[in-house]
Amino acid sequence: MKIGSLLRDGKVHLSCEVFPPKKFDGIAQAAQVAQEIADLRPAFMSVTYGAAGSTPGHTLAIAKAVAEKDVTPLCHLTCVQSTREHVRQVLSDMKAAGMENVLALRGDLPKEGEPVKEFAYASELVEFIHQQGDFCVGAACYPEGHPESGGRIKDIDYLKRKVDAGVDFLTTQMFFDNGILYNFLYRALRAGIDVPVCAGIMPITTTQQVDRVVKLSGSIMPPRFAAIADRFADDPAAMTQAGIAFATEQIIDLVANGITNIHLYTMNKPWITKAIVDNLSHVIKMG
Ligand code: FAD
Repeated sequence: MKIGSLLRDGKVHLSCEVFPPKKFDGIAQAAQVAQEIADLRPAFMSVTYGAAGSTPGHTLAIAKAVAEKDVTPLCHLTCVQSTREHVRQVLSDMKAAGMENVLALRGDLPKEGEPVKEFAYASELVEFIHQQGDFCVGAACYPEGHPESGGRIKDIDYLKRKVDAGVDFLTTQMFFDNGILYNFLYRALRAGIDVPVCAGIMPITTTQQVDRVVKLSGSIMPPRFAAIADRFADDPAAMTQAGIAFATEQIIDLVANGITNIHLYTMNKPWITKAIVDNLSHVIKMG
């Protein structure tokens, strides 16, 4: 199933992200985790792509495990550290495995001194994917602006160019203050970006995650969440419960304000995903 049309049907959807293992011998366990999450019947499941374009086969292996559970997989694919020939081969393998949906990403820039190979931006990958077959193509967006963009105005401008290159839907970077998403959607619409947007929600359930997430994504932590992290720093069970409640509340507010597509960054934790899905059982119908 093509995810782009699913996201336009007006119903409320919850989708989930999982990541593949770094090492080949972790595939069976990661596949089992992905299938446990698939049993919760999300609208689709995305599988990330290894840093620096490594281990493409691992992404495909986990995507196949998702498909075995009759849940639509979305394969992530990065380009900045790959040649066109390599990307062509990865897409050919995806097609042969029946994959119809790809999230086109630039990926992290190479280390200083190492050159970018043949793709500079995700927009070039979006065009390339369409040349390789009938894929539904998604892309990333950043409600707080991408850190390298030089500002949110330029970022929206580049995002519009990326969408015009053939993007069927967008998934946002995680955010913890819904006001930031509403502001982004307003600016995106004004710029003429009208593809469906999946709102990315990351449940923060350990204090270690707080620093890591702020460092990696640059996301702003609202004072309300900072108070939770401070208060429950020494009580892991309370931190987990409060993190699940915070993510649940964030999603309820999004749905109440008309957002129909929610994407959960599961961090490969089925029990946390299940707790959130259970909390939302009357708000979002799964399956
Ligand atoms: P782009 O859209 O190419 O943008 C990169 C930067 O360049 C931005 O600052 C943009 O404003 C700017 N820009 C774009 N076009 C131009 C232009 N023409 N001229 C000048 N500047 C321009 N990483 C992984 O390694 N694996 C994953 O699986 C993965 N999954 C992700 C999923 C989501 C939903 C998100 C939000 C991110 C994910 N990432 C992943 C991280 C992503 O690879 C990085 O954030 C990366 O730095 C940017 O990727 P992009 O596709 O958004 O890049």
